[in-house]
Amino acid sequence: TAQLVEKSEKLALVGQLAAGIAHEIRNPLTSIKGFLQLTRMQGEHRDDYFDIMMTELDRINLIVSELLGVSKPVDVVFKKQAVTPMLEDVVALIQSQASMDNVQINLEIESDLPPLYCEENQLKQVFINVLKNAIEAMPDGGIISVEMKRKSGFITIQVIDEGIGIPAEHMPKIGEPFYTTKEKGTGLGLMTCMKIIESHGGELGISSEIEDGTTVEIRLPVT
Ligand code: ADP
Ligand code: MG
Repeated sequence: TAQLVEKSEKLALVGQLAAGIAHEIRNPLTSIKGFLQLTRMQGEHRDDYFDIMMTELDRINLIVSELLGVSKPVDVVFKKQAVTPMLEDVVALIQSQASMDNVQINLEIESDLPPLYCEENQLKQVFINVLKNAIEAMPDGGIISVEMKRKSGFITIQVIDEGIGIPAEHMPKIGEPFYTTKEKGTGLGLMTCMKIIESHGGELGISSEIEDGTTVEIRLPVT
């Protein structure tokens, strides 16, 4: 039946994704193993080997943390709750990291927003991934405006940066797993965000002007 076909297509996609992630994680693991062996055999370049191993471990950490939202951990709990403190928490968390990059985050939240039926850890993951991209788009610093407000039947969250922007020809690729333009990117952040917002019945849109900045708009339905 049609439903079965659809399910097997989804499973095939999951398989492809898992294979890709396994590959991404196996590379740094193989490298760490090699350098551990070298470290045991000779003491000469120990500091260099340790630096490389730390970098590779950071990379695995980044891949795993960007994927948290799609992995369906056991503690996924959908309930009716306020989104305002979630956004405030994430901005507070990321603000200190941002200021080291000369980035200031301005937060504007409409008062008395209705609660949403949502999963706290997953929504926080979305806010983190989108804000990280905004910071990374502004190597010389700048301002990120985050606005959350009510718009007929939806709560919208806009993250507006003054960064490098996205060339129009790259737009169709954005959000595809492993698509990245960054030397140390994973290309998993936005895919995770899109999956999570979709599972909330919402939408995620991106508009961008090269060298002018990018706006990510998230719309979540009020039920
Ligand atoms: P990563 O950040 O690891 O590259 P993402 O899935 O988070 O992976 O983003 C994919 C790509 O989308 C980025 O490599 C970048 O080219 C582009 N992108 C995402 N957000 C922004 C932004 N705010 N400004 C400019 N480019 C962006
Ligand atoms: Mg990212």
